[in-house]
Amino acid sequence: MKHSVNSMPKVNDIISMARSEKRTYLLEHESKTIMKIYKLPVMQFTVAETEDEAVKAADTIGYPVVLKILSPDVIHKSDVGGVIINVKDADEVREGFKTIVANVKKHKENVQIRGIFVEEFAPKGVEVIIGAIKDPQFGPALMFGLGGIFVEVLKDVSFRVAPITSYDAQEMIQEIKGYPILTGIRGQEARDIKALANILLQVSKLVTDYPVINQLDLNPVFSYPKGAKCVDARIILEESNESE
Ligand code: ADP
Ligand code: MG
Repeated sequence: MKHSVNSMPKVNDIISMARSEKRTYLLEHESKTIMKIYKLPVMQFTVAETEDEAVKAADTIGYPVVLKILSPDVIHKSDVGGVIINVKDADEVREGFKTIVANVKKHKENVQIRGIFVEEFAPKGVEVIIGAIKDPQFGPALMFGLGGIFVEVLKDVSFRVAPITSYDAQEMIQEIKGYPILTGIRGQEARDIKALANILLQVSKLVTDYPVINQLDLNPVFSYPKGAKCVDARIILEESNESE
């Protein structure tokens, strides 16, 4: 497996950094850097520590951009007003930077802020959720479902124990009840199932290569007629042992 051998040092560096700070929750730029190494489709992004840096990043990425809080204390970013999408120019970047910092501080006074994550804006797609969770008995299992009410209310999800084959990945997608939404109903274009299967496959490789990953959530992934984008990514590590 040429791929994972090449990627080992860098992924390990990110994990060691989190460990050295006694964090199990990887920040979004850390998770997405790991995902990039595993050829998962993420958008262009930069971490900005100041408003000026954020503007520079946004100018480079191109407008509109998305701004998100980067904090080890904030796991659900939009719950605390930590995400602003569709930011259209430099003034809006400055304004958004201030708003996010103020919003997050309102929720927790001594919140640690590492910066603002500046990301390329992804056009709306059909929302799917891809995840991996460790079962104490079976090891890492992969999950696939459609986003929003499909997962939360209808629990319309499929599972497989990792590692999976590309055939398994296709099956996981086809067996959810909402599958017709992906093949195109009511004049909607069919979605790129292969792109989704590929994400499942790469996530399977990642969690198999790194058993230290306890949980991985891609929520949402936007699914398009051509391709897909992992819009949000959260990786949680195992609690570390004394011996590490
Ligand atoms: P959290 O789940 O921690 O609240 P997300 O990163 O999922 O934060 O962002 C919240 C929502 O904002 C997403 O569900 C998505 O609809 C939207 N969003 C986030 N990042 C982007 C992006 N790069 N492009 C377009 N929309 C985005
Ligand atoms: Mg999310």
